[in-house]
Amino acid sequence: MTWYSPALETLYSLAGKMTPYTAWSILEKIKKGATMSPDELAQIQWQRLSSCINFAYENVKLYRDLWSRSGIHPKDIKDRNDFSKLPVLTRAEIAARPPEDLMSRSADARGLVSVCSSGTTTGKPLRVFLDNACYNHQYANLLYGYYLMGWRLGTPMMTVRNFAHGDYRGAYCDGDFSHEPFEAVRSLVYRFVHRKQLLPPLQGSMRPDIAHMASIHSRIKAYAPYLLEGNAYFWYQFARYLLERGERLPSVRAVEIDEVTLSSGQKELISQCFNCPVYDCYGSHELGVVAHGCSAGRGNHILSLSHYVEIIDTKSGRKAPPDAIGSVIITDISNSVMPLIRYETGDLASMPAGSCPCGNSYPRMSSIAGRAINCVPAAGKTCTEQFFLEHIFRFEEVVAFQIDKSRPEAITVQLISRTPGVREMIETGLKQSLGMPVTVLLVDAIALDRPGKARWVRA
Ligand SMILES: [Zn+2]
Repeated sequence: MTWYSPALETLYSLAGKMTPYTAWSILEKIKKGATMSPDELAQIQWQRLSSCINFAYENVKLYRDLWSRSGIHPKDIKDRNDFSKLPVLTRAEIAARPPEDLMSRSADARGLVSVCSSGTTTGKPLRVFLDNACYNHQYANLLYGYYLMGWRLGTPMMTVRNFAHGDYRGAYCDGDFSHEPFEAVRSLVYRFVHRKQLLPPLQGSMRPDIAHMASIHSRIKAYAPYLLEGNAYFWYQFARYLLERGERLPSVRAVEIDEVTLSSGQKELISQCFNCPVYDCYGSHELGVVAHGCSAGRGNHILSLSHYVEIIDTKSGRKAPPDAIGSVIITDISNSVMPLIRYETGDLASMPAGSCPCGNSYPRMSSIAGRAINCVPAAGKTCTEQFFLEHIFRFEEVVAFQIDKSRPEAITVQLISRTPGVREMIETGLKQSLGMPVTVLLVDAIALDRPGKARWVRA
């Protein structure tokens, strides 16, 4: 359908100029941003950040209280160093407040939509409100990632999410986040513009069900999508399924993964299976898409027109040095209804130094190394989920694992493996690296709990 993509793009472009659905116009600005000099981009971002903090101080009770308590006034914030003196906003601080303290007093309640974060590992879900302008910016950020991968409007794609995701509309799990805003419109856009087919998720166990994989395989073969996206763990298990059977799906030209942290070897395996690049996509329900995988595989480019990302040392709270893992703190510049300023995501990542060889000027961050809450302190260092993934998935026989760190002095690893021999190798290796007692138990299944993401570490 050679006419279909250009026709849709013309339609989106017209809508962007003539209606409140401005996503395409924003997308044009994001594309332009990637070609500006890094200094120019940083300047634009700083102007937006400055307006954002002035606005929040004037209009949102939470920030007026928080910043006054710390003796900070927006007029004292003259650059990024000053900005980092603003207190970090924790989920606990948000949870302790009534909703009216978090919302801008200028927000018009009509036309607002709310999105809900998943709260399984972090307490109760966080409900964030946004307006049409912010929603369009989030959509533009999503489209930008697709276009970086060579996808265009009207090109077939297939998606798998965790079973509690709102895109399934509660088909596999009902609850706080089993729906998405604008469901009817989303369905139409998915069907006719994204040509996106949703595939059924993994359920029950982290061990994939072979009949399920076989049915997914037939559906992808029949639909021949350009792009596969969604739950990283699912695509890893599916890639293994295909490789073991010597099957290929040549229509697939890009895979975009999110929701779950994988090891570098697992990503390579997906890339090898589909013979195409694998891109990260980092974001969350409350923040939208924050960063997209670099086309040269050098980390993720941050969408800095809408998000300011800081990596701070978890102990000192100061900016982490380049390449050092720290806590991911994000300011959402695009949400003027319920601004999130220096919001502690609970994720861990690093920031590489220097410019990117791919030529994209947006600043970079690494892939997510895991959740801060899932780290295991051992032998004077902090082991992230990424550490365990790299260590355990080195062994090809491993199907899945989960670490129980509920006892501070020892860890237990549940392991699903094709052969029992690796159990001892993993146990010995981890004992040596961690300097603490480690027990590895072979099991048949590891339950996937809500929201249905593979969980590498359980507290
Ligand atoms: Zn790059």
